[in-house]
Amino acid sequence: MVFTGSAEWHTPASEMAVTQFEIVAERLNLDRNVRARLARPDRALVISVPTRLDDGSVHVFTGYRVQHNDVLGPFKGGIRYHPDVDLGEVCALAMWTTWKCSLVGLPFGGAKGGIACDPTRLSRKELQGMTRRYTAEIRNFIGPELDVPAPDMGTNEQVMVWVMDTYSQHKGHAVPGVVTGKPVEMGGTVGRREATGRGVVHLIRETAKHLNLDLSRSTAAVQGFGNVGSVTAAELASLGVKIIAVSDRTGGFYDEKGLPIDRLLRHLADHPDLAGCRFGEPISNAELLELKCDVLVPAALGMQITAENAARLKCRILAEGANGPTSLEADEILGQKGVFVLPDILANAGGVTVSYFEWVQDLQNFFWSEEQVKQQLQQMLTRAFREVLDLSQREKVDMRSAALMIGIDRVGRAMLRRGLYP
Ligand code: GLU
Repeated sequence: MVFTGSAEWHTPASEMAVTQFEIVAERLNLDRNVRARLARPDRALVISVPTRLDDGSVHVFTGYRVQHNDVLGPFKGGIRYHPDVDLGEVCALAMWTTWKCSLVGLPFGGAKGGIACDPTRLSRKELQGMTRRYTAEIRNFIGPELDVPAPDMGTNEQVMVWVMDTYSQHKGHAVPGVVTGKPVEMGGTVGRREATGRGVVHLIRETAKHLNLDLSRSTAAVQGFGNVGSVTAAELASLGVKIIAVSDRTGGFYDEKGLPIDRLLRHLADHPDLAGCRFGEPISNAELLELKCDVLVPAALGMQITAENAARLKCRILAEGANGPTSLEADEILGQKGVFVLPDILANAGGVTVSYFEWVQDLQNFFWSEEQVKQQLQQMLTRAFREVLDLSQREKVDMRSAALMIGIDRVGRAMLRRGLYP
């Protein structure tokens, strides 16, 4: 395994990403040197983030920014705030972002950042202080032409504005193009907030067409009710899909007659999570995954579907809103069961695609209409879906392998063309 000698990156997530890459590299007969370079990131920063807490004490958080590869353009990728963030996870997420951008045809490479923290337990002031110090520590490694962060789990529009403001203060002028996922009035784009969920649903629609499934008579269960899960559930419901279960970190609800998604969304408007909602029967996050439904959308953490529970899944379509929700062993089992998998690097690519639109608009200081954003997003995702489906049928491989093959092949060819410096 190419990862030898870099034990500090060795976690289940990084191992999964690298093994996936190795299998596809073998199938593609990827150049040996390119393969060795792509198995690990270009650069990984580990940062101490001293932050003054409201009680006056200083806590030193650990932050990361990992830049996997920038052969196709500036690094791009989210910033995650979660207690489980570690170097291995951030490396895996950065690598997946490289393949994701390449698959959709974006002129970006892959990166990821994060801070090991529980943002739900930090006050606004603490969150702001931590974000600004983190940004100051990585400021020489980000920028519109260098590396463009974005929201991910635990971060949002406000966090992006603090990143943008901190970076701009150091530059001495406003640099909106340094991050995406900003509010519209701060140089963000219309449609970014909804983009990932909208993309997931667009791809589910393409899949339903392919499988001859009538979505208006189908059921769905959604794990995770953050930005991705909530928009996915709302968009699916608007197509007539019966949402039989949803969950978040506080637990979930099940109702075979369908949950009132609009009321759940209203609850979230003035509550941080679903706790206290009383709809249907309570179920756990693990139980949700095993419900009989047409469409299952994991839109929360990674490693949710493993060798342990994969055989008990009863969905027809697995649409991965989250990054890395399915282990390699689980993939094999799902393949045998005939579950149609919309792999993460395709299913949730709508987010980074509209981030690309935001970056383009910021660089041009010229802003698009929501209709333009929606149309371009659909066009790019439909093309990617067709390419992946065609390759999977031609090569008789599953959708994940096909998506990775396209993403990795493009990056590999660009690496060979640019050559090794010096
Ligand atoms: N964090 C999101 C993802 O995993 C979005 C990244 C971006 O917009 O750059 O795809």
